[in-house]
Parts: sequence; structure tokens; C-alpha cells
Amino acid sequence: MPQASHYDTMSIRKEFPFFEANPGIVYLDSAATALKPRTVIDALLRYNTHESVNIHRGVYRLSQQATDTVEKVRARVARFVSTADDATAVFTKGTTEGFNLLAHILTSEASKLSDRFAAYASAKPPAILLSESEHHANIVPWQIAAQRAGYKLLYLPANADGYLVPPADFLAQAASTYAIRIVSLSLQSNVTGIIHDLAPYREFAAKAGAVFIVDAAQAIVHVPEHIRSLAPDFSVFSAHKLFGTTGVGAVVGSKPVLDHTDVYQGGGGMITLVEPDRSGYLEAPGKYEAGTQAIGEIYALGAAIDFATQNAAALSAIEADLLAYADEKLAATGIRIFGKTPTPYATLGRSPIYSFEVPGVHAHDTGTILDEQDICIRAGHHCCQLLMRALGVSATARASFSVYNTRDDVDRLIDGIGYVKKIFRTDGHGTKHKAS
Ligand code: PMP
Repeated sequence: MPQASHYDTMSIRKEFPFFEANPGIVYLDSAATALKPRTVIDALLRYNTHESVNIHRGVYRLSQQATDTVEKVRARVARFVSTADDATAVFTKGTTEGFNLLAHILTSEASKLSDRFAAYASAKPPAILLSESEHHANIVPWQIAAQRAGYKLLYLPANADGYLVPPADFLAQAASTYAIRIVSLSLQSNVTGIIHDLAPYREFAAKAGAVFIVDAAQAIVHVPEHIRSLAPDFSVFSAHKLFGTTGVGAVVGSKPVLDHTDVYQGGGGMITLVEPDRSGYLEAPGKYEAGTQAIGEIYALGAAIDFATQNAAALSAIEADLLAYADEKLAATGIRIFGKTPTPYATLGRSPIYSFEVPGVHAHDTGTILDEQDICIRAGHHCCQLLMRALGVSATARASFSVYNTRDDVDRLIDGIGYVKKIFRTDGHGTKHKAS
């Protein structure tokens, strides 16, 4: 199959110094964290080397310049995932902190939400709707909040291939019993790469008067346009999966809503006036940014959004090419790939993230043997234990591709899987023979 994409992966790849430091390595773990292009590293370095001053509180020009840079990145972040005029971005440590923030403020009695979200005015018992496909970051914070505030947790079931397949009357039944105040779903699975069609759930949330949240941790790099078109009340992501650094991410949502919700962490930088017994708080987003922010990482996030925007066409063409090539090549190996069965369930497609099982071989063994061949994949439950249960496994091996990967990388993976099978002498039907 000839390379379909006319985009030059090799020149994009040169922008990632990782490959100079690690020649010969096949990096197939971008769903865990993406590599960082030089422009992102330079932005982090620029702040820490030349502009290393604090923001928001300095009266001197250097501090004001750094504040301007951070505020411009904030505006870029909000525009990258939202078309709403009133959208703002709250900087967090990442997706996980974003969900902890939302779980707190959307279940706190101090938040004033009933004017905007009718489910908060209902007398029915309150509930939160998630799915079995969610990352633990979009489950555990809700469990903690639900226990504290007396909410019921409901889960849309996933099937044995990772698709969301609620029974026809699931939503109607749930809505007749509970006031579903929060619907929080991931647009794209970090396990299967499936891009779920969330439009029906978005519509359901709007009718139910619920807050609709998108876990955009994976979607932000593959399909940011789908986040924008869903127009969620909040979306949550981490910079490090979008070619940015670790240590920063954002919650994007309506500023007027955030102005009326409870505070989360307290401290410096989020107050108007502190008295012995109480304090006044800034408007959003400032009231959610207690303490010194990850300023260099925010600079780098700005560069990451520039990189993703400038390379958007190349990114989707290269990913589409890798998906088609890897689909064909992997099918021929006889391994089980989760989320790839042709399905009657509505999805918006997939990205080249492959969870797989070499029959008869534990995922960790597959990962270790591939590592011996300089191929980096991930093995485990991928922080999705409810999904693993639905898939009927305890772990999968996962290979995830990005804009710097090539068809050669796919070929190396195929050869590596061949070697795993040889070592374990599997017959392709799950029977493992003794390897000598
Ligand atoms: N949600 C999804 C879908 C993810 O893929 C991840 C990261 N694997 C997270 C949430 C959590 O992101 P972080 O660890 O950066 O907070």
C-alpha cells in the first residue's frame, strides 16, 4: 500500500528532539503522553531562562509582560475548544485536577446553579451520569463528591468491544427516577481510540437541565473540532497529550456559570479581601487559581496549541494514513483488537490507538518483549477498570500513534508481535505452548 498522505512525516518528526536522544526507538505511547516539539520546549525554556518572574501581582513591566503572555494563552485555550463568547479557561494541573474541581463545585450546596440548570431545581434525588468507558479521572472524583453530597451514580454500559450501548429506555428510565444534574463523558477512549458520538447525550443533558461535561483528554489532539461542535458546558484536558508539557491543563466553561459556583482551593491570588473570619473572592477564572501557577508550562501550552493548529491538516492526514495501514497489517496478525469490530452503534470513527491481546499472552509480557525490541507500548488497565470488565479482560496491550509515527513504525510493531508469538509459541487460538 503506497503512503497515502502527501504530508512529510519525516520533517515533522525532526521537530521532536526525543528522536535524536533515542535513535531507533519506536514510540507508540502517545495516548499516555505525546512527545514535545522543539517550539514547546523552547517556550518552557524561554520563561525559565529569560522571563522567570511571577504574574498577576508585579507592578514592574517584566511581570506585566509575563501576565500578558499567560492571559493570551488562556484566550487561545478557550478558543481552541469552544466557540462560546462567554467561555473562559481555568488553568489546572491537568485533566485529573480539572475533574476534582468540577466534582466539587457542581455538587457543592454553595454553588448557585438552579437558575441555569433546571435539574438543580428538581425535587427528585440527584444523580450523575457517567459511562463504563470512562477514565478513572472521570469516575473517582465523582464518587468522592457523590458520597459527600448524596448523589446517585449512573453508568451507561459499554459492550465487549468498548462501544456505548445503553438499552433503548435507559435514559428515559433514569430521568424518570432521578434529577440527572451532571452528564460527564469522554469523547474519545484512551483504550480503544473510539470517538463516541456524544450528540444524543448532549441533547439528553440539555433536555434534562443537566450540566454536560466532555473529558477531552484524548479528543483534544485528534478531533478538537468535535469538542467545539458538541458545545459542552465544560471540557477538561491536559496539555501533555497535546504536545505540551506535564503539570498544566485546563477546564473550559462559561465564565458567568463559574462566577456563581463555589470556590475549590483557597490561598493567595484568588481573593479580593481577607478578613480574620472570611474572605472575598475574585471573579472566574481567578477565583479558581489559588497559588502560583505553572507559568512556564502555560507558555509551553500556548506553543503546543500553535503546533497543533499549524499542523492540523497534516495531523489528521497522517493519522488517517496510519489508521488505514495499521488496520490492514494488524488484521493479518490474528491478534484481538478491541473496538474495531464493525458496529451498528453510532461512533464518529477511530484514531490510531490500538488496544490488543496476543492470544494466550499476558499484556505485560507482550509489552516487555516489545520493549526488548525498542518498541514502547503500554500494558495494563489504562486507568479504565470498568471498561476492562466490560471487555472481559484485566489488561490490554496498547499501541498509540501520533503525527511523528511512520508506516515503518507499524511494520516494526507487526514484526515485534510476530516475535512475541514466536517466544510464546501461540497457535493464534489462545493456546500457549511451552517456550524453550
Ligand atoms: N481522561 C482520559 C480519556 C485520559 O486519557 C487521561 C490520561 N490517560 C485522563 C483522563 C487523565 O489525564 P491526566 O493523567 O493528564 O490528568
